[in-house]
Amino acid sequence: MNGESAPGWPNDAVRRIAAANNVLVLTGAGMSAESGIATFRDAQTGLWAKFRPEDLATPQAFHEHPRRVWQWYDGRRQQVAAAEPHAGYRVLVELEKRFRHFAIATQNVDGLHQRAGSQRVFELHGNIMRTVCAQTGRPIDDEWLCEHPGEPPPSPYQPGVLARPDVVWFGETLPEGAHRAAVRSAAQADICLVIGTSSLVYPAAGLPAIAAERGAMVIEVNPDETPLTASADVIIRAPASAALVALASHLGH
Ligand code: NAD
Repeated sequence: MNGESAPGWPNDAVRRIAAANNVLVLTGAGMSAESGIATFRDAQTGLWAKFRPEDLATPQAFHEHPRRVWQWYDGRRQQVAAAEPHAGYRVLVELEKRFRHFAIATQNVDGLHQRAGSQRVFELHGNIMRTVCAQTGRPIDDEWLCEHPGEPPPSPYQPGVLARPDVVWFGETLPEGAHRAAVRSAAQADICLVIGTSSLVYPAAGLPAIAAERGAMVIEVNPDETPLTASADVIIRAPASAALVALASHLGH
């Protein structure tokens, strides 16, 4: 850990976690940052620096500039394919085995939790590695994409319609099943562990408040202050990997 001391976890938080039955973890781009996946804003470098998020991640942007949006996501996909889950992901895999109910609601679209081995993961914003028909939302095979190189490829289902990444863009609604499951887990949680999110984008950012209302201890892991900081019960000012590795050691893993 480069000579830095491990992040301290307050004793009462460790005790509450050790005694918990139901745990909800909410993750954001900061969870993936140490695996080499840039946050949306950090990724807007070089050629992409001149674009605003609305130019790349909205249905309107895709409608007006499908090639540009597809190329942006192609770059993100390559970054995700080259990334490996860091030690913090493996801690979450181990924690899942320990609690009666343990779920991860993630705003990330990189699938790293599943690649690490986490089982119960609610993808609130979709997954960049999947592709769907832009009109019907039906999944499209990789095989079809290989046979139809283009930017972006056509949909196999509707003439004149394009394929698009299976992600939730600004202005779109969350996948109903994933959102409902995350709300249910928040409402039952004894512990809500919020890792690496700016807590700005709703409805995901509303999950800790649902958990808190039912009496959960809300713990924020983030090197920086966020709008959640003021209401969190415990704040761990550290990067995700170091914070989770330290938690595992406090819990005797
Ligand atoms: P975010 O980029 O808004 O926030 C990332 C957070 O991670 C920050 O609070 C940062 O302090 C923290 N962080 C950075 N490194 C960390 C580390 N090593 N360990 C722990 N925390 C670390 O990402 P988000 O909160 O996931 O955003 C939510 C959703 O909003 C995203 O899924 C995305 O769809 C969307 N989004 C879009 C834009 C945009 O400009 N288009 C920007 C942000 C978020």
